[in-house]
Parts: sequence; structure tokens; C-alpha cells
Amino acid sequence: MRKLLVAGNWKMHGRLSQNEELMNSLFQQLPALSESIDILVCPPSIYLDQIKRLVDGRLIGVGAQNVSCFELDGAHTGEYSASMLADLGVSYVLIGHSERRSEQHESNDQVAIKLKNALKAGLVPLLCVGETLAEREAGLVENVIADQLSIAFAGLDSDELSRVVVAYEPVWAIGTGKTATPEQAQHVHAYIREFVAGGFGSELSLNMKILYGGSVKAANAEELFKQPDIDGGLIGGAALVTEEFTAICRAAANSPKYG
Ligand code: PEP
Repeated sequence: MRKLLVAGNWKMHGRLSQNEELMNSLFQQLPALSESIDILVCPPSIYLDQIKRLVDGRLIGVGAQNVSCFELDGAHTGEYSASMLADLGVSYVLIGHSERRSEQHESNDQVAIKLKNALKAGLVPLLCVGETLAEREAGLVENVIADQLSIAFAGLDSDELSRVVVAYEPVWAIGTGKTATPEQAQHVHAYIREFVAGGFGSELSLNMKILYGGSVKAANAEELFKQPDIDGGLIGGAALVTEEFTAICRAAANSPKYG
């Protein structure tokens, strides 16, 4: 049975006081839910320590939005490594988010290095994959996903891969208000699971969490989470609004799938 995961990606939003307010309202509303699903928040990296302290052992995970390609300490101004995140007590990290792929020109090869570094440091990586609208319209969805996955997974052994969470995030659905239909999302999730089964066996594939991301909100979460291969969501804009994020977590906790 796969436990559903709802992860909030705060992107470049927040201030000390706003973060504290948001976390306090999540603590009030989420405790009962955090026993049946995994809940994670990914604030901007400079606030990770603040959020870790606020969480203070409660059942909410803390993740970073990025990590360096450099593994070892050195002259890399502005970078922070996977082992620094682990040192801070951070347990998850987003890898290859489409905003980083497009704005920072992060390549599939860099994503693969980050994934390996994160695993080596004991972090749980959330590997983001997804196609652009042009790629979808050209009928290339599966090719794009297969490329992104095969480059990211090259050289990983089964034990490493078993710690990876994949997030399918169609680029055209991120921050646009356009959500993939539950059927469109399910189709790609099933493809990802088959792809993993083909390379690494069905047991690993059946245990892998595959999240959907792209304009998930309270109004569409339930239908998405009912799909057999959707194991939760990576939530951007709605993660900054307590009522929305809580309702999305509730939809995951109430999912009839494994009940
Ligand atoms: C995201 O940041 O990964 C995301 C899916 O954003 P949004 O929910 O705002 O589309």
C-alpha cells in the first residue's frame, strides 16, 4: 500500500512572520491528517532552518526546492550541498522542477547528478518530470518522460531508486490554472510506473510514489487522487493558502483507493 504524500512547494514566497503564521495555521488544522498521509512543505532555502524549528518534531516533513550539483565543500559561491541539507535536518528535496529547468537551464544530466547527490546524503528526492505544451501537441509526452527518467535513473541501483519519489508535472499546467484531466494525468502516471517496472521490476514500481503537480487545488484534488496511479500531489500556489492546502491534504487522507 502506498501512503499518499502531499508536498507544498512555496517557490520564492514567504517572510519570517508570514511563514510562522502559515505553519501555525497548518499545525492547527493538519494533525489528524498527518497520521494517515505524509505532508511536506518546501520553503525557500533560507527559511529551511526557521521551518525546521517551527515543525519541532511534528509530523510534517521539510524539504528544499533545490540542491547543488557539487557534492563536496569548496569554492562554489551561492551553492549548498545535499549533505548541508541533511545536516540541517531537511529530509526531502525537489530535483528538476520545471521552473529550474526553464529559468536556470538545468539539464537532464545536471538533474541526474543532483539526484545521486541527494540519495547519497540520505535525502528523499522528489524528481520532477513533465512535458511542455508544444511537446504534448507534437505527441511526444512519453518520449520526453522516458528521456527525463532514463537519464535521471542511469547508474542507480534498486535500493537507491526505491527511495525516489517521482512528480509528474506537465509544464503547461504549472501555475497556469490549467490542470491535466484526471484521465490525462493517470495515463502518464501509468506510463511512468510501467517504465520503472520495465527497468527495475514490478515490485519496486508498485511501491514507488508518483505525485501529480500542476494547478492542483481543493476543487480538483479529490478526482485526481482517486486515480489508481496518483499517489498525492506537488502543490504550488495552493500550498500558500491554509484552507486550500488543508483541503487538498484532506482529499488525500479521504482517498477511498486503499481504504
Ligand atoms: C509546482 O510548483 O510544482 C506547481 C505544481 O505549482 P502550481 O500548483 O501553482 O501549478
